[in-house]
Amino acid sequence: MRKILIVGAGQSGLQLALGLQAQGYEVTLMSNRTADEIRAGRVMSTQCMFHTALQHERDLQINFWESQAPRIEGLGVSVAGPESQRVIDWVGKLDGYAQSVDQRVKFAGWMETFAQRGGQLVIHGAAVSDLDYFSRTYDLVLVAAGKGELVSMFGRDAARSPYAEPQRALAVSYVHGLGTRPEHPDFDAVRCNLVPGVGELFVMPTLTTSGRADILFWEGIPGGPLDVFQGVKDPSEHLALTLELMERFTPWEYARATKVELTDANGTLSGRYAPTVRNPIGRLPGGGLVLGVADVVVANDPITGQGSNSASKCADSYLSSIIEHGDRPFDETWMQSTFDRYWSTAQHVTKWTNAMLGAPPEHVLNLIGAAGDLQPVANRFANGFNDPSDFEEFFYEPEKAGAYLAGISPSGV
Ligand SMILES: Cc1cc2nc3c(=O)[nH]c(=O)nc-3n(C[C@H](O)[C@H](O)[C@H](O)COP(=O)(O)OP(=O)(O)OC[C@H]3O[C@@H](n4cnc5c(N)ncnc54)[C@H](O)[C@@H]3O)c2cc1C
Repeated sequence: MRKILIVGAGQSGLQLALGLQAQGYEVTLMSNRTADEIRAGRVMSTQCMFHTALQHERDLQINFWESQAPRIEGLGVSVAGPESQRVIDWVGKLDGYAQSVDQRVKFAGWMETFAQRGGQLVIHGAAVSDLDYFSRTYDLVLVAAGKGELVSMFGRDAARSPYAEPQRALAVSYVHGLGTRPEHPDFDAVRCNLVPGVGELFVMPTLTTSGRADILFWEGIPGGPLDVFQGVKDPSEHLALTLELMERFTPWEYARATKVELTDANGTLSGRYAPTVRNPIGRLPGGGLVLGVADVVVANDPITGQGSNSASKCADSYLSSIIEHGDRPFDETWMQSTFDRYWSTAQHVTKWTNAMLGAPPEHVLNLIGAAGDLQPVANRFANGFNDPSDFEEFFYEPEKAGAYLAGISPSGV
């Protein structure tokens, strides 16, 4: 059977490894951390995944936490006015529910499953020089190492990467004790709180190492009032800052958060990165080729919560391309066409995410405002998080947005 090496045991690497393993491939998975180190380590994401991405996990029967993780049935939007009052407040219903399973729980669990099923798990932080050797001993080497150092092997695609610098400073806190959402206490939703000119606060439920929790996630415009987390090492100081900013900019969310405490000492994260699309094929010094997967080749800002979704979609697409290729060599032509097939989906995510990082044009403000009165608009916006290609139909161009709103009635008929 064909031998495949996957470097990086995250969303895409693990999903692909388990998928290939189930098809009888001889898979080696290289991780720079053990399952226990991941489980006891720092949170890595907010990892909210929508229906299509979750379905890929169900198809592989690796949706081990589905019954325990909160079901996220809606996506809400609030917009802060100049006095920090809430000027817009609505929630759209998702056609299929979303879920967030702490990557510490999921990656550690999937790694153990991979090993229990006979997969070869190697704990080693791979360097470019290792890959040179491995590209000669494996039929295919996939680099699924996220935003780590190995991305330097893949050249930046400037035409597809409009931003050279980070567009948001990120600050995440996992908490217990958040009060019920008064707007719709009967169901869970992700809430996007937009603070114009300042940034965004996302609030969502998750399943973490200690059970159900909520995540408070600030995305701050660099240099602005939310860009204050760099250098904060003490987790309780990180949480205190998060809450102070909530009180100042989103008091309606702060009102629910007065009794929260961190889930654990590793329940905070801060950082920033520039959204970047890269050339998918890495050329090694010895002449071998490797193919980049998910964040290695397309890393978007988490403002739209798409990276894990895209990693799942990438793993699914690459799995099909590998299986369909049979016994033929995994050459440069195949690598490029495998990426191009994934990019046909990913390009919509990148376009929408990059658009959301800029100041919204008037027709987008109109759409967000109209969703407060027209439930079908709220629902369509919410379901765009599952399939961002739909935004082509009504979001980017003022004419299409206007025609869409003109043709809709409050009942959606
Ligand atoms: C603050 C924040 C919030 C986010 N929120 C969301 C969200 O709500 N929804 C969503 O869909 N996405 C979200 N994302 C993005 C999402 O987490 C990532 O895009 C996704 O995990 C990428 O999957 P991946 O498989 O490409 O890489 P990863 O999941 O990052 O996995 C890469 C793995 O490779 C390992 N590795 C790195 N270098 C090496 C090496 N040299 N050798 C061996 N192993 C190596 C790493 O340790 C890691 O385990 C968020 C990201 C951040 C930072």
